[in-house]
Amino acid sequence: MKTKIIFSEKCLGYGQYHVEGPERVRKAVSILKDRGYEFVEPQPANEDDLLRVHDPDYVWAVKKGFVEDADTPAYDNIFEFARVSSGGAILAAKVGGFSIMRPPGHHAGRNGAALGAYTRGFCYFNNIAVAVRFLGKRTLILDIDGHHGNGTQEIFLGDEKVMYISLHRHPNYPGTGVSHELNCFNYPLPPDCGDEVHARTLDKALSSVDAERFEVVGVSAGFDTHAGDLASLGLTERGYGEIGRRIGALKRPTFFVLEGGYSGENVGKDIDALLKAFEKEAEGK
Ligand SMILES: [Zn+2]
Repeated sequence: MKTKIIFSEKCLGYGQYHVEGPERVRKAVSILKDRGYEFVEPQPANEDDLLRVHDPDYVWAVKKGFVEDADTPAYDNIFEFARVSSGGAILAAKVGGFSIMRPPGHHAGRNGAALGAYTRGFCYFNNIAVAVRFLGKRTLILDIDGHHGNGTQEIFLGDEKVMYISLHRHPNYPGTGVSHELNCFNYPLPPDCGDEVHARTLDKALSSVDAERFEVVGVSAGFDTHAGDLASLGLTERGYGEIGRRIGALKRPTFFVLEGGYSGENVGKDIDALLKAFEKEAEGK
């Protein structure tokens, strides 16, 4: 069984001069097409989907183009782009797929910038949170992006149905995620710590998890931990395979939502490495 890739060309239609630009996804998509993955197109999330996570005033402000900060421009029609990306996460959750849509989401809290961060870090709606609330199941969220998912933590802090685990570079934007809080478990790592330290830390993080408790695993799949990228932990393709193997070993229904990762070529190869190892382990081969 090959994990389906959730993608719509619509997500390439904005922000071409920004580091979070369309090329990162376009290149990754072309690599995954060459490698034989099946693609499925998502529908936009509707407002009810967004309102399970975000305050009505915030959704209204994004719709009107009133939200802009130093990292996160108010692009024309960003509401439409952002809700297709959230729709991608919902479809990934429904079919156990990998949504390779943009904009990313894990820095967006209920009301925008979360837990005291100054910006929304390229995010508008919290796609993985929208998908988790859509399913309404007991969910383990594993965030492997190189930045702490401050928005996701803010949204689910104290939520009995959800456990949040994040491995991320520290110190770094947004400056949160230094220690565990309630149901949110944070593992800050030094810059360029490398594949082995990362894998050992992930083992430690997952050793405290009773996977049986969860009906589904949602992965905030960021690849800016790749060596040389924006939040480098010095990871290589092999390291993403190690991550995929550990996620597969949880033996739960799983979906993936793209967060960061700013070299499209690395993103494509890293997704392939992660999914191949995930599938091999999940299928017990
Ligand atoms: Zn990131």
